[in-house]
Formats: sequence, C-alpha cells, structure tokens
Amino acid sequence: MAVDVIVSEVGPRDGLQSIDQLLDLETKKRWITAEAAAGVTEIEVGSFVNYRLLPQMSDTAALVEHARQIEGLAVAVLVPNLRGASAAIEAGASKISIPVSASETHSLNNVRRTHAQMIDEVRNIRAAINQLPAAEQPYFEAGIATAFGCTLEGHVSLSTVQRLAEQLLEAGAEEVGLSDTTGFANPAMIKNRIRAVHNTVGRDKLTGVHLHNTRGLGLTNAFAALDEGITTLDSSLAGLGGCPFAPGASGNIVTEDLVFMLESMGLNTGIDIDALVAVRSILESALPAEPLYGFIPDASVPLGWSDIRAEHAVAN
Ligand code: ZN
Repeated sequence: MAVDVIVSEVGPRDGLQSIDQLLDLETKKRWITAEAAAGVTEIEVGSFVNYRLLPQMSDTAALVEHARQIEGLAVAVLVPNLRGASAAIEAGASKISIPVSASETHSLNNVRRTHAQMIDEVRNIRAAINQLPAAEQPYFEAGIATAFGCTLEGHVSLSTVQRLAEQLLEAGAEEVGLSDTTGFANPAMIKNRIRAVHNTVGRDKLTGVHLHNTRGLGLTNAFAALDEGITTLDSSLAGLGGCPFAPGASGNIVTEDLVFMLESMGLNTGIDIDALVAVRSILESALPAEPLYGFIPDASVPLGWSDIRAEHAVAN
C-alpha cells in the first residue's frame, strides 16, 4: 500500500552531527537497518562534509553503501557544496540535499558563502548530476534553512524565501524544502509561507518540510504543513539533535510521536510504531549520556487505537 505521508528519518545525520559522542559504524548500520525494517522508507544517513569539523560524519560513504542494499529505502544525504555532492554521487546516494540559508548572515556563518555563491554551487551540482545516465541520477533538493527566522538575523522576510526558492529551482534543484532550523515557526506562519511558495513555484516543487520542536510547536506545525499539502516530514528518532550552527536551536520533531499523530489520523506511513519504538534501545545503550525525547515511548498508544485509526482512515 502506498504511504500517505513520507516520514524522513534524519537522526543519523541531523541527530548525530549535533552531539559530541561518536557513534561507531556498526551501530549506525544497525540503527538504519532496524528503522527500515520498522517501515521507514527514507533515511538521511549522513553528510559529506569536512570531517575535521564533523568527525561524526566521516563514515557516510560506508553508510550509503550499506543503506543502498536495503530494498525500497530512499538513501538521502546532505551536502554543503559540489565536492560533497561528487562524493555523494560516487557513493550512490539516491537523494542529495543541499542546505541554503535564507538568512545570508546564517549562510556566511555556517558555510562562509553568500546566496549568489550557494546558487552557483547548486548550478555546478546540477551539471555534475547531468553527466550521469538518467537512471543513475540522484534526486536533487535544496533545503531552504532558516526559512521561518534566524537566531542571528531575527525575522526573515517571506519575499526572501520566495525569491531564493525560484533561484534555486532555476539553478537546477528539482525541488525546494523549507526548514525551521531555529524553531521560530508557528502554524499560521507555516501555512502562509508554504502557500506563498506554492503559489510562486508550484505545489510539486515544495513537498517536504524540516521542522523543529524548540518551542513546543513541532507537531502543531507538522499538522499545519499537512493541511497545505506537504507529504514529506523530517523527524529524528528520540528527537536526537538540532543545529550546531544556530545557537540555542535544538530539538528535532520526535519520529515516534510524529508517526503516532499521523497514524492516529488514519494516514498511512507504512511504519510499525512498536517496532519503531524498539529501535530506541540501540540509542539507549550506545549513547547513554544523551537525553531521549518522546511521549509515545512512555505513554504508549491508547487502548482501542486500531479502531481510532480505522475511523479516520474511512474519513480520509
Ligand atoms: Zn533538524
């Protein structure tokens, strides 16, 4: 059965890159395998970055190779530039994402590049992808970071986000995503900005968002995004991680709680929630110092849950 909403697990990348402790390759592989077995269809397994700055990501190529062998799994990676994209292509990633910050101050701080330089980078990556046979070309997305505000610049105007979306698509990204990197968004803003970007570039050019729960609005914002037709939601197992380059911005949406909300509403994610919750034990034993978040792992699903889901599945 086709899924209604793709829950894209970003823990192995977003989660691990923001904590100090290194997770060994074999544990990462077990984590990815277990989540895929629970029904997760897309996992961001790592990033191709400067490993001196982010040693947690030094085994991304080996993880891509591992994850590619899992049938039906979209293997996503994050890249900051053409060099990273070339490594991602060589490793065989099926989806490449480049973050481009709507806040130019954040961009300069994060990757030391202006908007114009990032757009050039997107153009260069497109050219590299185009050299591959069509069947081997990875899907190429540009994620607009700080799309709802920035800890350095404060308010980021909607027109900046719209213009950047147009420029990134023109430069060769197949799609843009919107990221609430700093946890500034609220449901009204989510709806307004998604609708505005849809009106600017078309609904099929923005299907995914990356939301944070920094101020407790993560799931509410996810619901608002669904209402505007978004079909891919990023989240992190146990809420691991945040953004190391945006001070004070922590808290990815918890995958377990997101899946609970979606499935409760009768939306099919393809994910078995008990199997998903069980994957936490891998993190519990490997990262004993890290806090693991989430309500569903503690409260469990309510009595009669399958009937609740069936009621809403009919309504959908
Ligand atoms: Zn995040």
